[in-house]
Amino acid sequence: MKSIAIIGTGIAGMGCGYFLHKEFDIEFYEENDYIGGHTNTVYVEEDDGFIPIDTGFIVFNRETYPNLVKLFNRLSVEVKPTNMSFSVQHLPTGLEYGSQLLFAQKRNYFSPAYIKMLFQIRHFFTESDEILNNERYASYSLLDYVTEKKYGSDFIYKYIVPMSSALWSTPTDVTLQYPVRVLVQFFKNHGLLGTDTQFQWYTVHNGSEQYKEKLIEPFKNRIQTGKAAVRVFRENGKARVLASDGSEKTYDKVIFACHADQALKILAIPSETEARLLKNFRYQQNVATLHTDETIMPKTRPIWSAWNYRVEAIDGKVTATTIYDMNILQQVSQKKNYFVSINDPGKISPSKIIQTIEYEHPVFTVATAIAQKQLHQLNENDVSYFCGSYFRFGFHEDAFTSAVNLCERLLARSPWEMAKNPKPELIS
Ligand SMILES: Cc1cc2nc3c(=O)[nH]c(=O)nc-3n(C[C@H](O)[C@H](O)[C@H](O)COP(=O)(O)OP(=O)(O)OC[C@H]3O[C@@H](n4cnc5c(N)ncnc54)[C@H](O)[C@@H]3O)c2cc1C
Repeated sequence: MKSIAIIGTGIAGMGCGYFLHKEFDIEFYEENDYIGGHTNTVYVEEDDGFIPIDTGFIVFNRETYPNLVKLFNRLSVEVKPTNMSFSVQHLPTGLEYGSQLLFAQKRNYFSPAYIKMLFQIRHFFTESDEILNNERYASYSLLDYVTEKKYGSDFIYKYIVPMSSALWSTPTDVTLQYPVRVLVQFFKNHGLLGTDTQFQWYTVHNGSEQYKEKLIEPFKNRIQTGKAAVRVFRENGKARVLASDGSEKTYDKVIFACHADQALKILAIPSETEARLLKNFRYQQNVATLHTDETIMPKTRPIWSAWNYRVEAIDGKVTATTIYDMNILQQVSQKKNYFVSINDPGKISPSKIIQTIEYEHPVFTVATAIAQKQLHQLNENDVSYFCGSYFRFGFHEDAFTSAVNLCERLLARSPWEMAKNPKPELIS
């Protein structure tokens, strides 16, 4: 049986483990002290026990997450409906609105600027097909597009940037550099055109930990946490992995199921193709804070939504935070409100903080969109392979699909066949 080292236990790495563990001798390296990467349920103590709250991956839908849905069905993972409502609180102007309550502030009925913004939201999405089909826009960033089309600053800073920044957890300047096509394609694919969502969204009942445990159950003993791969040497047609505990081991193959920049860092001698493609992917730090501080939520209580975007000026600099309302998203508690804030600028009362976790999310630019089309070249050899969310839009389905595609290449058939009808172990 051939051996494979898998570096990283996010959904991409765990997905590879699920499909490959019967036919390869797999062994995982995981830098964190827990398994799962962005699949990370935190258990919070309440009077009568512990409640599960997701702090990374939370939502999916049946329309645009086909592989993840197939996996959840195979594993009999219980899911429940949730929603993708959003609110915006713009502290410099006092504007507050929610996708499900556009006129919660009565003054907005009489605000020409606000009415104009609503019209422009509608108009932007009538232009979506043109953006996707006209080659002219292939190299446009969001900023290029809205500037050329003379969209108003309210549409830009109180709608399209907040909405996109909330989805990718990126600051305003980074969001404005997003390729306009990637953004519109994602909105369209995910039924997020306009102020309403066209799809029903779901979350895993009792947290994503539920699916993780079922997924890794057959190969959990092959995972070592707190053990990073620090260097990977490819020599004599094999891969030698040097680990953070000083150990070294040689495998027939290695899968980099970590982020693109992390893979490039640990590759001893990257090929020209690897260096050229992987260097395009930069990552944005997303500090997730699980807390119970309601004071950072919109003053207009009825607009509290699943995703809440808060814009404020701190020392003359515009700062943006996304706040997930975990009771709206996952109904985690009947006693208290729990929130997960992304990149909070220090406004949460320290006494209300439960846990802080550092994540990283890929940042997409026009250059990354071009590089993505060539990423398949990374997996056209017989020793080292790559997968992760950076292969597409940066979401859970994207990471898992990259694992499905890679395993199809390694198994030379659909990986789903094996998962359904496990074959006896193959001798290499
Ligand atoms: C706050 C937040 C909320 C999100 N919410 C959603 C959502 O609701 N729906 C959705 O579809 N997507 C969501 N996403 C995106 C989605 O969760 C991720 O894109 C996806 O899960 C990433 O999976 P991955 O396997 O590519 O990477 P990760 O989950 O990041 O896994 C990579 C793993 O590699 C490990 N690693 C790195 N370097 C090394 C090394 N040298 N040695 C050993 N191990 C290493 C890391 O520790 C990590 O465990 C969210 C992301 C964030 C940050």
